[in-house]
Amino acid sequence: MMLERKSAGAVVFTEIDGERYYLLLLYGAGHWDLPKGGIERGESELDTVRREVREETGIEDLVIIDGFRKVINYFYKSGSALVRKTVVFYLAKTPQTEVRLSHEHNAYAWLKMEDAMVTLTYKTAKEVLFEANQFIFPLERSGYYEGAPLRRTRV
Ligand code: ATP
Repeated sequence: MMLERKSAGAVVFTEIDGERYYLLLLYGAGHWDLPKGGIERGESELDTVRREVREETGIEDLVIIDGFRKVINYFYKSGSALVRKTVVFYLAKTPQTEVRLSHEHNAYAWLKMEDAMVTLTYKTAKEVLFEANQFIFPLERSGYYEGAPLRRTRV
């Protein structure tokens, strides 16, 4: 038997003294992952992202960065069934670094890109983080970030 499950989550980051830190959670099962959870009936993907981030970390102040959305898939066994999981990830910034964990997780960490990449357990999660980081950098370099010009160039 094959079951289909869909979750939504986010690459959540904060900036302290010009450095960017990404939020990772240590799941009870022992793997480090991004905040995410099942999409409930009637919820949009972004509703789920906001609810799951709030439930898993206590973070309420989330600014979703427009234009980033990445879908991953993986399979796992649940009893005798094979589950095909789809997870949709968004990118979000927060000024809130204080985290209140739920019972689902054993630890959290705010990590710089390189540390976050080696800490994440699964390849697909690393790919999401890599792409999210790439998504932010070119925007910064071109002078645009969160839709607002950081510096104007006269022509
Ligand atoms: P959710 O957080 O979406 O409610 P869950 O906690 O029920 O989901 P998953 O986190 O999807 O379930 O974990 C189910 C199984 O899949 C676990 O054995 C976990 O180790 C494994 N798993 C989690 N993320 C990945 C991934 N990116 N790639 C491969 N296997 C994964």
